[in-house]
Amino acid sequence: MSENPKMQSLSSALSKLLEDIHEPSIVEWVTLDDAFERILANDVVSPIAIPTANNSAMDGYALRFADVSEDKPFKVVGQSLAGHPFLGTTETGTCIRITTGALVPDDFDTVIMQEDVSICNEQEEQAICLQKRPKAGQHVRLYGSEIEYGQTVLRQGERLGPLQLGLLATLGVAKVAVFPKLRVGVLSSGDELKQPGEQLTLGELYDSNRVVIKAVLMRLGYQVVDYGWVADDPFALRTIFNKASDEVDALITSGGVSVGDADHTRDVLESIGQMHFWQVAIKPGKPFAFGVLGNCLFFGLPGNPVSAVMTLEQLVLAGLSKRAGQSKSSFAVSHHKVIPAIAKQPFRKKVGRLDFQRISVNITDSGAIAEPIGIDSSGMLTSLLNADGWTWLEQERGDVNVDEPIKIQLKSSWLI
Ligand code: AMP
Ligand code: MG
Repeated sequence: MSENPKMQSLSSALSKLLEDIHEPSIVEWVTLDDAFERILANDVVSPIAIPTANNSAMDGYALRFADVSEDKPFKVVGQSLAGHPFLGTTETGTCIRITTGALVPDDFDTVIMQEDVSICNEQEEQAICLQKRPKAGQHVRLYGSEIEYGQTVLRQGERLGPLQLGLLATLGVAKVAVFPKLRVGVLSSGDELKQPGEQLTLGELYDSNRVVIKAVLMRLGYQVVDYGWVADDPFALRTIFNKASDEVDALITSGGVSVGDADHTRDVLESIGQMHFWQVAIKPGKPFAFGVLGNCLFFGLPGNPVSAVMTLEQLVLAGLSKRAGQSKSSFAVSHHKVIPAIAKQPFRKKVGRLDFQRISVNITDSGAIAEPIGIDSSGMLTSLLNADGWTWLEQERGDVNVDEPIKIQLKSSWLI
């Protein structure tokens, strides 16, 4: 059966979805301890310069480069330790002992590594001789050389990961303005589903989608609200959709969104909210639905485990991140790009849908080489588990021969 030629492409679905989702407007101030994985609501401007003063990059001796001359020893007149600066005055031909990170006095400009001096005391006075000629300014970290006072260091929309938090701490910033944590509801639907720990009867299977979706959302710092499981029953679906629309910013369901007799998700969505689109020309993941329940975004994922993950990955996460206030550039950084590769084996492919076939990938000196892992069912979670990534075989493309160039995407870090 050929595909519906009107079915929209992934990129058009993604643009529509992002067009329909607005950024947050509420801002809250949190301490650094509560800021991990939050999205910045303001630009952050540095309240100080880094380094805050000239300091030493080495253990050794600080001196004035202009005083360096052949064979002339330097009298050691004091010391500067990290946290205990030298406060005395210095004369021509003197130096101080200095440790890494300790303040370099204003009238000194150069640090000599301990390994490059010899002790050559003169009478009772401690003195050092240089074993090689230094370079002017060496081993001194200059005031403001990393970050200038007033410099914008982080932008609104940036996700606060470990390094961003470290930067804020470096600047002494104790509180930041962030957008509220997005509350995301997760619901599984299907008469055949049982929960781990329960006994299966004939024709039943365990509900795994909700576990996967929740774990991904938690990794990304969303506040997960678990709506459990619901039968293929329009009344029960309506009750939960109504509840979710009052309680969460977005609801992610899986199952019941296709064209089967027991697929009621779309009807219920349309009866109490709006469906903005349904079906995307991707494989797996075609019967994806997007809409709203009042102010609550609605993402209807197909039930097959790989389809659910791929639509989450390719569509839902982008939508959630925009709703959470994350900028496009910050979101793009955390996503693996689509990269070129060479097909090591043939790929069977029908024209009509963008195809995500699970692959193993070898990164060689001449680039990435990809081959199908051999199991490609959208129902097999193990195909994703055992893959390094998936193909990005264009909608209009047919079979791929050995050695043809293809595009691939590596498995995201939140799936590993
Ligand atoms: P559906 O999208 O409801 O037609 O379901 C497609 C396939 O995915 C069926 O084989 C379902 O049993 C399966 N499925 C649906 N929901 C889940 C789930 N939460 N966990 C694992 N498999 C599911
Ligand atoms: Mg179903």
